[in-house]
Amino acid sequence: MIAFLDYIANYINEQHSEDSGEIAVVFPNRRAIRFLKNSIAKSIKKQSWLPDMFSMDDFIYHFSDFEAADRNTQLIELFKIHRAKNPENTDSEAAFEDFLNWGTAVIQDFNEIDMYQIDAKEVFSYLSETKAIQLWSPDKNELSDFQKDYLKFYQSLFSYYKHFKSRLQKKELAYQGMAFRDFAEKIKEEEIQLPYKKILFCGFNALTRSERNIIHELLKTKQAEIFFDADAYYVDNPKHEAGLFIRELKEEFNLQNLHRIEENFKKEKKIEIIGVPKQIGQAKLCGKILQDIKSKEKEIDINDTVVLMNDENLLEAILQSIPLEYEQLNVSLGYPLGLSPAFQFFQDLFQLYISAQENKDSKKLVFYHKHLNKILLHPYLALVSADNKNIVAIKDEMLEKNTSMLSSQKLQKIMENHQAADLYEKFFSFSENTQDFLLAMDNLCVSLLEANYEKNSISTLEQESILAFQSLLKQIYELIKTYALRLRLKTCWKLIKDNCNSESIALIGEPLQGLQIMGMLESRNLSFKRVIMLSVNEGILPMGKSQQSFIPMQIKRDFGLPDFHRKEAVYAFHFYRLLQSAEEVFLLYNTETDSLGAGEKSRYIQQLLYELPSYNPDINIRQGVLQLKPDVNENNWIAEALEEIHPKEEKIQEALARFFERGISPSALNTYISCPKKFYFRYILSLHEAEEIEESIDERNIGSIIHNVLEDLYQEHKGKTLSVKDVEAMLEKYKALTLLHFEKQAFGEDKNYGKTLLMREVAHNYIAQFLKKEKKRLETHNIQIVGLEEVLECQIDKYHFKGKADRIDIFDGKHRIIDYKSGKYNPKTDLKIPKEKIKNISAIIGNYAMEKNIQMILYILMYSKSNPQLKIKEMEAGMHFLQQSSKDFVALDAGAYAEENSFKAYEDLILGILEEMETAPFTAMNEKNKCSYCPYQNICH
Ligand code: SF4
Repeated sequence: MIAFLDYIANYINEQHSEDSGEIAVVFPNRRAIRFLKNSIAKSIKKQSWLPDMFSMDDFIYHFSDFEAADRNTQLIELFKIHRAKNPENTDSEAAFEDFLNWGTAVIQDFNEIDMYQIDAKEVFSYLSETKAIQLWSPDKNELSDFQKDYLKFYQSLFSYYKHFKSRLQKKELAYQGMAFRDFAEKIKEEEIQLPYKKILFCGFNALTRSERNIIHELLKTKQAEIFFDADAYYVDNPKHEAGLFIRELKEEFNLQNLHRIEENFKKEKKIEIIGVPKQIGQAKLCGKILQDIKSKEKEIDINDTVVLMNDENLLEAILQSIPLEYEQLNVSLGYPLGLSPAFQFFQDLFQLYISAQENKDSKKLVFYHKHLNKILLHPYLALVSADNKNIVAIKDEMLEKNTSMLSSQKLQKIMENHQAADLYEKFFSFSENTQDFLLAMDNLCVSLLEANYEKNSISTLEQESILAFQSLLKQIYELIKTYALRLRLKTCWKLIKDNCNSESIALIGEPLQGLQIMGMLESRNLSFKRVIMLSVNEGILPMGKSQQSFIPMQIKRDFGLPDFHRKEAVYAFHFYRLLQSAEEVFLLYNTETDSLGAGEKSRYIQQLLYELPSYNPDINIRQGVLQLKPDVNENNWIAEALEEIHPKEEKIQEALARFFERGISPSALNTYISCPKKFYFRYILSLHEAEEIEESIDERNIGSIIHNVLEDLYQEHKGKTLSVKDVEAMLEKYKALTLLHFEKQAFGEDKNYGKTLLMREVAHNYIAQFLKKEKKRLETHNIQIVGLEEVLECQIDKYHFKGKADRIDIFDGKHRIIDYKSGKYNPKTDLKIPKEKIKNISAIIGNYAMEKNIQMILYILMYSKSNPQLKIKEMEAGMHFLQQSSKDFVALDAGAYAEENSFKAYEDLILGILEEMETAPFTAMNEKNKCSYCPYQNICH
């Protein structure tokens, strides 16, 4: 099959060999131009001129009286009109901030009205009060206040529209719709003469009214020809949405024959539809498919393969998954600056200063430690720093001081003490004046790029992002200067952020060479033999029904503005067009629910599965879902793409051996039981939670404070028999001790206020309750304190166990190992092991409720091994639940096993768990409730 652009090249070479210099070719976008030039060069038979080539936008602006008005200029011009209309609002900064919330949507509406050559006056006066009541409140007689305000605003929009256009016109500027409308009107009135014998409009599908009118006028005078890149499969089927626009154009332009409608869906094709969990799963699978393609066909022309991305968020993961054999890549994607890795850093830096201004104390900026840490720990700081150790030392000093708020002066001092004055200058000494701030930010971008020139440590994508961000800063700076705007930093950041979300980064590569990675819109007019399309999910392809517009949908329909159905039909065309010329297609979709969708495959896949086999029974469609389970068939190439962390690997075996050497603690075993993958992160990879400044007290802190207070209170009674009097004395001093431990934790300056004071009261309450119960116990029992924070150890088989018991008593002659628990007692699961579970390891792994039981079993095992003289009935392990005043000590219910006078069954259980640890994969338990508190959730999913 001949690719569309090769077809156009042949047409030009054959039909316009003599006059190729007098023709123009117009495409929907610029990208096809380079490819067409290449095709012409390949097929040219004799020397001739290259035709002029344009994207539709460039074509219109080239022959129009206007320059294109950039996004920010449009915004400011509209804002000026808004200010003039609302002089009573004297706070211009607040007005601008508010304006940013709706200005862009209004400009988009103006653009659409002009692109479709609709009478703006009619649109904005169409919504009378009566009409609004019909539309919004059919049962009521009156509009709500909100609806009335909206109506008033809507009706005022025509005046905005009129003034907006006139202001731009005076400056010889135009937004896209304005330029297109003007062009369409002038060409109709023959006020524009185009200097070409023929204009070839190639690869268009959905055209706006002004585009249709422009092309139609030129077709009528035979100055133009139109070429489609479509397939009879969807064009000839009157119900198929992908062919909707081409059928309409055929009728409207009265075209007898459509150039060029192929029948490629009747040819041989292989389509694989694969569901895979998570975004990262798709990236990995894509890498695996590419690897397979290379290994199957060594001499493959990789220029014929495209990785089509429907979700730009996947770009980084895809770039990392491309096999090394693919030496040349070309990434052309509308990759929003707002998704770039550098954007997050700039956002954090703005956030640091915005909140510092809000926290301003007298004349000093005061930084919040969490915002400050994000910058201090960011790799860009290390990039420009001569010595990374300084940064760590600064962070440690802040941690040591446990300072949640830090003035800029103090920070400067700390940084100077650590020989990092230059870093302070570059990152933390920005002016509060917005214009100066932007200049300092610009300088920082220069420093980052210069440092990277030396160290080469950031990716090309990041460099491009920094450059794009820097150019945006300059634009905003100029805008502020030109229009003498007064912007707060916060408003300025909002403007920058909006720009980042609409601005795209120029990406890497040579367009004609190598593997192509692109977005759907960039693929227009291009043909590939192999297509790997990602994120073919409902809600992404087609996109959900989100719209930013002030024109109600009903009015849009009444005036012929495009509604959701027409917008979706555009994407249906792109999807089918890309498939039509491909011989091998892989459609990947995410099976998991995430922020972008419900893990559903796109309706286009469903449609393909339902309709295509009856159109072409020879087409080969396979579909399947990739499971993240250890039992998938390992011979299946899909299964090989799975990442399974298996202890059999040598490195993991070594790390496990080191873990065993250190001694197996109850908490490590519990981590394994609650989620083996969590254990893998914490104990095999040694990924620990970052130490953080504690700005307020939480449950964990309060638990450790109570432990410490109780330890201090009982210390002097260690080795002695406890009396009621001893406990009464403890009741006298526990408050002072609690205060001491709160002070030690240094929760800022707030120990006598707010949450900290409240938590101290809670701690008092728990300790007092516990002591009162202790006093009661002593009335009828004998308690001897044997140990506090006692280290217990033992060896079972090849394993060494080590742990610490909060307290050990001899209670009426029985040895009692005690753990203080600040949580609540669950009578159904806590300290009970059902008989059937003790031999069923798989029922224990992943069973959160088993954690306390396993801890107590280990205590008993360790204590009994180091006290072999004790009989089983002479010892017990259990917990005091501090939160429950009604509950006394609860011992592990040893059940039937105690009768055997042996802990053999417990030993076997623990050894069984360890054997599992050494042989089975570290499976992720993926339990919503647990994962949401897990520190590894970001790297796990
Ligand atoms: S996020 Fe969930 S599955 Fe992953 S390690 Fe944590 S608890 Fe386990």
